[in-house]
Amino acid sequence: MKTRICPKCGYKYPALDYVKTALLASYKQPRNCPKCQLPLKINRKRRLNIVLLPTLLFLTLGSMDKAIMPLLNLNLLWYWVLNVLLFVTLYAALLSLDIFEDIEEK
Ligand SMILES: [Zn+2]
Repeated sequence: MKTRICPKCGYKYPALDYVKTALLASYKQPRNCPKCQLPLKINRKRRLNIVLLPTLLFLTLGSMDKAIMPLLNLNLLWYWVLNVLLFVTLYAALLSLDIFEDIEEK
């Protein structure tokens, strides 16, 4: 898979660096390849699909708190802490699978 690879020079963004940048920067802001300075464009459709999965899981777990809490022997606070942690972890893991689009092709 061509994840996090610059379409021009083939530079591969390290996963951790990339996730940090992606979480902190708004995705309207263009970021450049650190090697060749090509502005990197993220596939928006893919990004939306990526955000959808953890969000759905988060909402599902959120609405099922009364059913799941006794099974895991957790109180409400810990249940939500774990739910948020799971959301952030999953989101970050999926962000690291972003693909850069080749803007010069169009
Ligand atoms: Zn590059």
